Amino acid sequence: MDATDLQRKLTSIDGHGYKSYRQIAGSCNFPKFTLFIDYVQGDPFAAPSRMRARVAQSDAGFEGRLYENAVRRTALEDYLARAFAHAIGKFVKGKRGTGKSGFIGIDSGGQEILERTAAVVCEEYVEVRFAAGLPAEGRRCLSREAEAMLIGEVPELVEASLFKAVLDEKKLKAHIEAAEDQEALREQLSAAGLVAFVADGSILPRESGIKDKPLAGSNVVSFLSPPGLNREFNLPNRGRVKGMGIPEGVTLIVGGGYHGKSTLLFALERGVYNHIPGDGRELAICRGDGVKIRAEDGRRIEKVDIDPFISNLPFGADTRSFRTENASGSTSQAANIVEALEAGSRLLLIDEDTSATNFMIRDEMMQKLIVKEKEPITPFVDQVRNLHHEHGVSTVLVMGGSGDYFEVADTVIAMEEYVPRVVTAQARRIAASRKDVRIGESGGRFGPLLRRVPLARSLSPRRGSKEKVAAKGLKSILFGRQTIDLASVEQLVDRSQTRALGDLVWYGLRRGYFDDETGMAEVIDRLLADVTEAGLDIISPYGEEDARKGRPGAHPGNYALPRRYEIAAMLNRMRSLEVNM
Ligand code: ADP
Ligand code: MG
Repeated sequence: MDATDLQRKLTSIDGHGYKSYRQIAGSCNFPKFTLFIDYVQGDPFAAPSRMRARVAQSDAGFEGRLYENAVRRTALEDYLARAFAHAIGKFVKGKRGTGKSGFIGIDSGGQEILERTAAVVCEEYVEVRFAAGLPAEGRRCLSREAEAMLIGEVPELVEASLFKAVLDEKKLKAHIEAAEDQEALREQLSAAGLVAFVADGSILPRESGIKDKPLAGSNVVSFLSPPGLNREFNLPNRGRVKGMGIPEGVTLIVGGGYHGKSTLLFALERGVYNHIPGDGRELAICRGDGVKIRAEDGRRIEKVDIDPFISNLPFGADTRSFRTENASGSTSQAANIVEALEAGSRLLLIDEDTSATNFMIRDEMMQKLIVKEKEPITPFVDQVRNLHHEHGVSTVLVMGGSGDYFEVADTVIAMEEYVPRVVTAQARRIAASRKDVRIGESGGRFGPLLRRVPLARSLSPRRGSKEKVAAKGLKSILFGRQTIDLASVEQLVDRSQTRALGDLVWYGLRRGYFDDETGMAEVIDRLLADVTEAGLDIISPYGEEDARKGRPGAHPGNYALPRRYEIAAMLNRMRSLEVNM
């Protein structure tokens, strides 16, 4: 159909029951683009209808250089989704009746530039996927309003965002180049012997505990690297940058309360992702395998070998294959570490603020009062070096409350009024002059990392006679009959990542990737290999159904790619998970 046909169809259903909107499903040719009406909502209060607008690349005019590799393509797609979102703010009237009538929205993301399905750029076309609430009065079609949206507003949105000629070329270029520089820097870290880099001039603090925008005002201290850790990198677009390099090994961040320790660590946690220009953390970069580790009491643990940290529990609980429905602070933190290593991480990020004290330290006085035989916990301080020797695991640790880590740290950074200073030598001297020495409790060995195999039967998405998987906000997933609590998975940053997590695992089940032989890490490898090859769209349960019915793939258009560590975190937090070891 074309716009005239669409208009005619709309007119013919005016005032009819809402389900009559089903008749407009399909594709509609406008002079400059094609509108695909993939899914029509059944009710004005239900999830809005799903549409795509596609412009031929010959008209859109984005030259190949702008999307010649994965990082550039992701950044360009990200930019287009944001441009479309911006146009929505400008051109869309909003409410046009009951329920979601008149709403138009696109999943354009926050401060990160993530691979997402909201926009697609390829040689043939550029496309955005958006949601639109078809207008109703009560539960009757409001055709004139629908016409104003689909034939009035949507073309305006497309014309304001999907043609290179109408976009701010400088901003577009800066967006793509910023992402490329971040990726390039991250790729150079390992060769430089670093786990992270924070460029001078970075703005690390955020507006508030719930807002991810940079803190503004005259009291913001921009980052300045300390003598001793100055490093320089050459980036493809920005050229030479200077800043602080955090070396591999064990790094301690110390300093007085409220002096910016946690803010620095938080920047590293988020530095596994690329950020948009203006975020302040564009060049605060962490190795991609950095995983935030914290205590998480109450979580479930399924057969995890926490023995390096915890053994000889009361009633002889098996700590080589530890399971509990209700973990303590220390057992949960131990499991979080072992699971992160299992998923492939070799970089742990830990903050005293969110750690179990008895997991982190046990000082010499306590060692005298409670002898080792009576204490199941081998504190992290006694394993952090073994982890580095045996498994190449680096740790960045915020610890302002205890000096016990001076002896095991390779690098000690003190934060003083938000400015870092290297104090490794002083810390060593103080540790050496200590009279009453702690006794190491690890026996000098961390031990092997065991492989676990998740069992398919334990991951059922069944709910009654149907299968159901749905993200509930950022930190919760409904999976079949259970709700998975991800509240403590701190590097899950975007609701669309959460949506993708549930559907990724569901996809893996449909594909038979959980075959009761493949280990946790290898299953995740398979999932991500498919995404790399076929795009994130592939995980959508709708795509497959539509392919079967011979329709052009309807798709949610609101996935963002999670990391492998968050996929593992989700699986490990399923209350039903069973594994073989
Ligand atoms: P710590 O972990 O050392 O106790 P935080 O990192 O939590 O301290 O920071 C304390 C406060 O200082 C927070 O409100 C944070 O937003 C603010 N802050 C952190 N870094 C800076 C900075 N560079 N400039 C201004 N304020 C900052
Ligand atoms: Mg803190």
